[in-house]
Amino acid sequence: MGKTEELVRWGYEQKCRKAVDSLQKHGFKAVYCANQSEASEYIIAEADSAVTIGFGGSMSIASLGVERALSELGKEILNHASPVLSREEKMEVMRRQLTCDLFLSGCNALTLNGELVNIDATGNRVAAMFFGPRKVIVVAGRNKLVGGTAQQAVERVKGYATPLNAKRLNFNTPCSASGFCNDCNSPDRLCRVTTVIDRRPRMTDLHVLVVNEELGL
Ligand code: SF4
Repeated sequence: MGKTEELVRWGYEQKCRKAVDSLQKHGFKAVYCANQSEASEYIIAEADSAVTIGFGGSMSIASLGVERALSELGKEILNHASPVLSREEKMEVMRRQLTCDLFLSGCNALTLNGELVNIDATGNRVAAMFFGPRKVIVVAGRNKLVGGTAQQAVERVKGYATPLNAKRLNFNTPCSASGFCNDCNSPDRLCRVTTVIDRRPRMTDLHVLVVNEELGL
């Protein structure tokens, strides 16, 4: 590792640890992970007693490669993104995610003050994050950290991640063409449900892994 990379990594570690500290003060079980392998190991260990595991359609979770490992351990995988599912089957998987044993999700933005900020089109992912599953693990790469308020985090998501996601998913929105949000009223608008989870929801065992590597958009 070169000196510059070492310094960048150190700088991000301080931010990740600050977010972890803030999250812990807000009642979350928050853990610093130096890399993706540590996050994957944490998830596999926490999944030990789970029978059903829901996936919220996250690029961050997909890049950890835990789905295959959990499937090989005999877990029932509830992933509505599977291309073989019909529309009805997809809906059924999303409903079952709401009551699964362990739900895995990424996070659109995480403030250093310990707030999880997310924007959904359907709302199934954010709903499962705060009530229903017995345990929830949210994974946030260092690129999701935002130094300002939750409102500034929303602006970061709409100004950067959502246009890229709209393009990735072939949604016909102004941002998928221009790269900029214009607060559209498109039938394909992704930004329909915005959530700020600023304290651990009372009935949810919510863990947050803050990873000192880039994950997702
Ligand atoms: S409001 Fe519309 S244009 Fe703005 S980010 Fe969301 S989908 Fe894109």
